Amino acid sequence: MMLNNLTIKQAQAKLISGEISAVELTQACLDRIKAVDGQVKACLVVCKKEALFEAKKADEQRAKGETGELLGIPYIAKDNIMTKSVKTTAASKILENYIAPFDATIIKKLRKAGAVLLGKANLDEFAHGASTENSAFGTTHNPWDLERVPGGSSGGSAAAVASDMCLFALGTDTGGSIRCPASFCGVTGLKPTYGLASRFGLIAMTSSTDVPGPIAKTAEDAKIVMDAIAGVDKNDATTVDVQKNSSGGTINGKKIGIPKECFDKGLDNDVKKIVMQAVAEYEKQGCKIVEISLPHNKYGVGVYYIITPSEISSNLARFDGIRYGFSAKESEKLIDIYKKSRGKGFGSEAKRRIMLGTYVLSAGYFDAYYLKAQKVRTIIKKEFDQALTEVDCIITPTSSHTAFKIGEQSDDPLKMYLEDIYVTGASLSGLPAISIPAGLAKGLPVGMQIIGSRFCEDALYEMGFAFQNTTDYHKQRPELK
Ligand code: GLN
Repeated sequence: MMLNNLTIKQAQAKLISGEISAVELTQACLDRIKAVDGQVKACLVVCKKEALFEAKKADEQRAKGETGELLGIPYIAKDNIMTKSVKTTAASKILENYIAPFDATIIKKLRKAGAVLLGKANLDEFAHGASTENSAFGTTHNPWDLERVPGGSSGGSAAAVASDMCLFALGTDTGGSIRCPASFCGVTGLKPTYGLASRFGLIAMTSSTDVPGPIAKTAEDAKIVMDAIAGVDKNDATTVDVQKNSSGGTINGKKIGIPKECFDKGLDNDVKKIVMQAVAEYEKQGCKIVEISLPHNKYGVGVYYIITPSEISSNLARFDGIRYGFSAKESEKLIDIYKKSRGKGFGSEAKRRIMLGTYVLSAGYFDAYYLKAQKVRTIIKKEFDQALTEVDCIITPTSSHTAFKIGEQSDDPLKMYLEDIYVTGASLSGLPAISIPAGLAKGLPVGMQIIGSRFCEDALYEMGFAFQNTTDYHKQRPELK
């Protein structure tokens, strides 16, 4: 077996027994990146020297008796997560040569745990998108079919895990950006509860829904990574330290809610069949399936695309050509520096969102759009909360179809926004949700989304373990030459 194909759990056992070293494991990942990233284009930066140095350090620490589940485990971080030693671009021209002055809290935690940073992964510029086509530095290709998108916005992270360039990757999820690419690339992606992990050092998109989380090969691995990055942080006042232990580890007798609206019109037949088969597997394992209704969830995309641009227009205001990144310094007047730096630095999707957000927040429109959207958001959240008092978790498809062709939807922003139909609900409600590979449709991965109660990630892991213990979908890998 190639070392880069291992799960964290498998690698850990081999590192503990001394069968392999962290340097060998890291080298195997670097070799894999070299062999296939020319086609997949998942990485924006590979930090070979630093990675081998960190791996050597991990081996030395282990020799001294140190342990830890992530000691010596190589990973890739989405490039909107700040790393002190390596460039952080958010896949934007405006940050093309930006080096952050500090590590994001989650990177710091992984460093402390001894994990080895291999490089930074491509994304839609500032995480705006569902295909990774909005990157200023080129599109990432889906390793299952190089003509297709990997999903987004954490497309580089998911493609890297799916093609075994690393043992896990970090992504961020604002409105599906971990779950969508996990689904399109056939890997496991967890969007944790809002506030479970620190956002300090993430390049902000929508501060009220942004969360960092793992993209991994199994639910077991996702838990290992999430446990390492979770926790209260004095630099992020929205973090809390209340992970609930949800149960005794069995899913027998658990109630699964199936929202009827999510299996209706617009859902690809193959995807529907595969997700329903997965639900049947849970039934076989003793779960009770209950049909539920989330009538307002369909407004999630509309609400999300009012609230998100509003927060984006405010968060992106800091990129003024003075403080960070690219600056059109040749201009003499300050206003021209702003205009030219932002004009040249931002791509078209970022500009579209800045304009939409500025519009809906402007006097006269605020009440009609932003305030109304927040009210509907509260209704959506209440509906989920109510449903989750009646069932233990909710299952939906992650996406209504499998990965689409590169370029197929890029001229149609509305169609692209509709990609998020099943994923915005959990984001707007701050609920945890995991996407798990549930099978292949015409050779392409299908993801099932499991949504749980706030801070009850454990319940999602248990659902993941139970499914992955009895099925092999998570072990299927694309064949890359
Ligand atoms: N598709 C969503 C968007 O474009 C996802 C963004 C995200 O989660 N970062 O806004």
